[in-house]
Amino acid sequence: MEIKVLGCYGNNLLDKKTTSLVINKTIAIDAGAITSSLALNEQIILDHILITHSHLDHIKDLAFLGDNVINRRDTPIKLYGEANTLKAISNHYFNNIIWPDFTKIPDEKNPVFEYREIKANDKIKINGLEIKAVKTKHTVPSVSYFIRDYKNTVCHITDTGLSKEIWKEVNKEENLKAIFIEASFPSEMKDLATASKHLTPYDLIEELGKVNIREKEIDVYVYHLKPLYLAKLEHEITKLSKKGFNIMLMKQGEIINYV
Ligand SMILES: [Zn+2]
Ligand SMILES: [Zn+2]
Repeated sequence: MEIKVLGCYGNNLLDKKTTSLVINKTIAIDAGAITSSLALNEQIILDHILITHSHLDHIKDLAFLGDNVINRRDTPIKLYGEANTLKAISNHYFNNIIWPDFTKIPDEKNPVFEYREIKANDKIKINGLEIKAVKTKHTVPSVSYFIRDYKNTVCHITDTGLSKEIWKEVNKEENLKAIFIEASFPSEMKDLATASKHLTPYDLIEELGKVNIREKEIDVYVYHLKPLYLAKLEHEITKLSKKGFNIMLMKQGEIINYV
């Protein structure tokens, strides 16, 4: 599978864009940087967008994407998320006040977006991949998505605090190759990280301690760094090490391949 990182920061500042990935060119996870990173022809071919939770840094480009692709596709783009997440988008974003309701235009039979509810532990098959939703601990209802092809699994973990449940699910993945995980605040801001259900770099090491070690090292891509604390976070993360894991900073614009 090919994963393109459009945005990988926990806030928007100058060239630092918020969370969004594209898998095999047609499936996106989160919409924090779709229209600011992809050309129009690349936006038009997105068929599926999996939303982890309703926070603005993960959904904001849905609004501009709707406007860009209207009347340029034959079928709606499917928007997946937990019921609460889709309800939040519908009530507070595509509500004809903040932005037009793109699930009803240009017409209700063939709109720009179509909501598809997904529940924790559901598995969906799209474009040759199996994607499993896994309940995550955050301040609003959220799910992470584990992406499997015939021989590799990448566990994309969304904004989260410390958790036991998510790691139980990670440990079930036989072909685990990579974990994408957040570190939002430096370790000196542990209290704020805990209150906002995010991780610090040291929390991240604690979390990786819950993962069964495999024969081959598991790649760990760290993302969702808050740009205000970038220097401190990068300094801490580049010093992290844990046996069994290859810990790296995720880079905006990079393409990650598992074949
Ligand atoms: Zn976020
Ligand atoms: Zn969040």
